[in-house]
Amino acid sequence: TFTVAIVGRANVGKSTLFNKLVGRRLALVHDTPGVTRDRREAPGSLGQLSFTVIDTAGIESGDKESLQARMAQQTMAGVEDADVCLFMFDAREGVVTADEIVAQLLRKAGKPVIAVANKCEARFNQGGEAWALGFGEPIQISAEHNIGFADLIEALAPFAEKSESDEAAEEDESNKPLRLAIVGRPNVGKSSLFNCLLGSERALTGPEAGITRDAIAVRWEAEGREILLHDTAGLRRKARVAGNTLEEMSVGSTLEAVQFADCVVVVIDALQAFEKQDLTIADLIEREGRAVVFAINKYDIVPNRAGLISKMREKLDQSLPQLAGAPMIATSATTGEGIDRLLPAVLAADKAWNTRVPTATLNRFLEQALQRHAPPAISGRRVKIRYMTQPKSRPPTFALFGNQLKALPDSYIRYLTNGLRETFHLEGAPLRLLLRGGK
Ligand code: GDP
Repeated sequence: TFTVAIVGRANVGKSTLFNKLVGRRLALVHDTPGVTRDRREAPGSLGQLSFTVIDTAGIESGDKESLQARMAQQTMAGVEDADVCLFMFDAREGVVTADEIVAQLLRKAGKPVIAVANKCEARFNQGGEAWALGFGEPIQISAEHNIGFADLIEALAPFAEKSESDEAAEEDESNKPLRLAIVGRPNVGKSSLFNCLLGSERALTGPEAGITRDAIAVRWEAEGREILLHDTAGLRRKARVAGNTLEEMSVGSTLEAVQFADCVVVVIDALQAFEKQDLTIADLIEREGRAVVFAINKYDIVPNRAGLISKMREKLDQSLPQLAGAPMIATSATTGEGIDRLLPAVLAADKAWNTRVPTATLNRFLEQALQRHAPPAISGRRVKIRYMTQPKSRPPTFALFGNQLKALPDSYIRYLTNGLRETFHLEGAPLRLLLRGGK
């Protein structure tokens, strides 16, 4: 489950909402005189959503410094533990100094913030000021009269989804074998590398220790991790008659291998690199959302080795920017060069593919990215980016919430995607960025 903190100055209606979310029993606790109001936490629900609610202390009027100090102690502790904060203000009074102080602290905390305008049972006429706080269009509710809860549910739902998928993922990812496939166009050296990787030809030709008969994969352990290497009939047969390249890997078997795999090694012929067919294969992997490592093979016969990899990088960045930065290893199946670096690169790409960025970290990234380079105005209206979550990994998938996001130009999306890739070391994993919300 996830945790929601209700944050705001005193008297905006935090406790009323808290009580609505938590239910009657705790409401009584609150009504007891003398109850310390520093922080209350209880299981809550709204519609189908269940979560933990934290009611943080409000700030009373007073001088700025002591307010800040009190906020820092009481409220920030609650915010720290939250996955999402509801920044609540009183729509009838509009945004006052105390609200601004709260907003400022929330921005510093880097958590996703949903602005909530309370006491909207009659009319909400302070929209302009609320927008200026930087949390996007406020959700209009009346905690007391149960108005606007459907919108609140909609805004909170992504956090429930995320926590569910987190929990499910943690369960089934614990020590699953890494599924690996080797693909590439004919004659680049797939079978030879397959052989090399397994360490010995004996493993493929003899009565096969460690190889499951008739299975489509070879199973072995490397670097403390169990590896399942996809073994198409073609690769296996060819491996037995080394040097014979009659069998070719068809598009169908490439797709099959890619769909089998978590991580795919794309074998590229160093002397004929990134030809159309190579790009088709890499593009397929990108679309299927698999982790990828490039093996630049036949390194032994490259006449001019200096700068080979950086030249390859340039080609990749140009033709497949979505896979920019993917690990690239120069290999030779003939001399064995570089083979020992292949699995570590695969493990790194797989790690990137499985990465989960905590919501707070993600929103700190987002805030900085927005500061450095604000989204452009589209036909006079500002695109509002509110927060970001990572609903899933494998491949890392991020969801951006705000208004008018569909209007964001590709260049801005690329700016965010590149930033995510570099900041969180996601090289080798294709990234997904979902645009959500907004009328
Ligand atoms: P596949 O069709 O991609 O499976 O390619 P193969 O593994 O059958 O290799 C095709 C040809 O390239 C064979 O003659 C191999 O001996 C040769 N080959 C594979 N890897 C290397 C390498 O790293 N260096 C050199 N010089 N030749 C290689």
